[in-house]
Amino acid sequence: MPLDIQNYRGRFAPSPTGPLHFGSLIAAVASYCQARSQKGTWLVRMEDVDELRNVAGAADTILRTLEAFGFEWDESVIYQTQRKDTYEYYLQQLFENNLIYRCTCSRRDLREHATSGNLGLIYPGTCDNKHYSAKIEAALRIRTQDRTIQFNDQIMGDYGHNLKQDLGDFIVKRRDGLFAYQLAVVIDDEFQQITDIVRGVDLLDSTPRQIYLQQSLNFHTPGYAHLPIAVNTLGDKLSKQTGAHGINKRHAVSELVKAMNFLGQTTEPGLENASLNTFWQWSMENWQLARIPDTEKITYIE
Ligand code: GLU
Ligand code: ZN
Repeated sequence: MPLDIQNYRGRFAPSPTGPLHFGSLIAAVASYCQARSQKGTWLVRMEDVDELRNVAGAADTILRTLEAFGFEWDESVIYQTQRKDTYEYYLQQLFENNLIYRCTCSRRDLREHATSGNLGLIYPGTCDNKHYSAKIEAALRIRTQDRTIQFNDQIMGDYGHNLKQDLGDFIVKRRDGLFAYQLAVVIDDEFQQITDIVRGVDLLDSTPRQIYLQQSLNFHTPGYAHLPIAVNTLGDKLSKQTGAHGINKRHAVSELVKAMNFLGQTTEPGLENASLNTFWQWSMENWQLARIPDTEKITYIE
C-alpha cells in the first residue's frame, strides 16, 4: 500500500547506548544533508528498543550533541520504548495472518541443529507447527519464504537474500519479551512516513528482512542508501565497544569536516575553521550522494 508522499522524509535513528561518536556522526551528517538537499524533512528517532543495552542519560547526551553541532530536526523525537502497544498491534496482525509462531529453542538447541550461513546460523524451523501455548516462555519468529528479496541500494548497488535459505525464520519478539530491532524499525519508518533511509552499511544485511516485514505488513518500502562505516586499524567498527570516544563538542566544525571528507565530499581548505552556519551552508550547496565511496569499510584514525 504505497503512502501518498511526494516529499522526501529521512531520519537519523541512534541507539542510546553511549555518547555520539564519529561512526554515528557519519550517519547523522549523511542523512541530514541528503534530506535537506532534497528540501525534505529530517527526523530523529531514539532506538531504545533493546532496553538491556540502553545507557541512562545517553539519549539526552546524543540530542544535546546534535544541537551543538547545528543539526535541526523536524517534529518531535520519538522513543521506541514508548511505542510497545503499536508493536504489539502489528505483531497481532502477523499472528492473524498466520505468519508467526513460538519458538522455545535455546542457544544450545540452535548450535546443535542449525547450520551456518553467511548471516550466522540458519534457523531450521524446528518449532514451526509445534503450536506452543502462549503460557510458555518463547521467542516469536516470522515465517520466511523461499524467494529472493532484492533491492537497489543507492550507494552499494544491488543486494538481496533468500531469507528462507540464508537465514531461516527470524525473531520478531525475543524470549525476554523485548521486540526485535527489525520489527520496531519497520513499524517506526512506516509511522514516520520515511521515504528514504540513509544509514551505515552494517545494516545492509538487515534490509532484506526489513523489506520482507514491510511486505508482510502491507507497508511501503523506502529507498535505501548504505554508507561505508568507519573502522579502526584492526578493522573493527568504531563503537563504544571498540573504545571509540565521544566526539568533541568544542571542535564541532572540524569533526563535521572530517565526517564530510570521510563521505567523499571534498571540502574547501580552511572550512574547519569556519562557523557552524558557514559549514552547513557550504554543505547544503555542495553535498552529493554520488560522491560517497561504495566501499564497506574505511579506516579512520581518531
Ligand atoms: N539504531 C540503529 C543503530 O544505531 C540504526 C538503525 C537504522 O538506522 O535503521 O545502529
Ligand atoms: Zn525453535
